[in-house]
Amino acid sequence: MDTDTSKAEQLLAGARRVTVLTGAGISTSSGIPDFRGPQGVWTKDPSAQQLFTLQNYLADPDVRERAWRERRDNGGWDAQPTAGHRALVDLERSGRLRALLTQNIDGLHQKAGSGGISPVVELHGTMHEVECLSCGDRTPTPEVLRRVDAGEPDPPCLLCGGILKTATISFGQDLRWDVLAAAESAARDADLLLAVGTSLTVHPAAGLAGIPLETGARLVVVNAEPTPYDVVAHAVLREPIGEVLPALAAGVG
Ligand SMILES: [Zn+2]
Repeated sequence: MDTDTSKAEQLLAGARRVTVLTGAGISTSSGIPDFRGPQGVWTKDPSAQQLFTLQNYLADPDVRERAWRERRDNGGWDAQPTAGHRALVDLERSGRLRALLTQNIDGLHQKAGSGGISPVVELHGTMHEVECLSCGDRTPTPEVLRRVDAGEPDPPCLLCGGILKTATISFGQDLRWDVLAAAESAARDADLLLAVGTSLTVHPAAGLAGIPLETGARLVVVNAEPTPYDVVAHAVLREPIGEVLPALAAGVG
């Protein structure tokens, strides 16, 4: 066990209000595609990133049709929570979790059982709901995908005819201010911020890792690749999330 691992265990064991920020790295072993990592979908095909901007989505029915097909065929609908997800449920049950902030849209934290005691804040929205961009009506995504299967390649809102989109944040789309405010508040209120499986490069979510610098809280980073916040973190762990998080959660008990 290296020094940063034991340091992280000590910091976790001594923390009373832990806010966790998770990214794609916690879900990749579930079969959820990573978009920005070294093997990520956008990294390997930057044109896809250009294609799925909000502006293009609104302007081009072909983009919407492709987006619905991608969501149906490559959405990772059968993905199951990992040991990392389950360890965060244990941390929540210890009573020390202030909030779980996630950049993931896959809903796997809730599927694992998170959110019963402490809030789960989905910074980039959720793929499990669809939102009408005109009237704001929300419906479960599977209902809309069934319409795609039944021959509506770009199904419009049943209430107003508006454009539907999964309730996720697209490129070129601002985060919801109330969601970001809740995340910032939870980060400010923490005595330890634990960043897991996130490259900490996608703003504004990544900026949450800078809040401990202002508040005097501790920052622990668990990520396979280097992040811009490693130099200011109190501990940096590169080992697999599925091993690190259960060990940290066991120490909190
Ligand atoms: Zn509508």
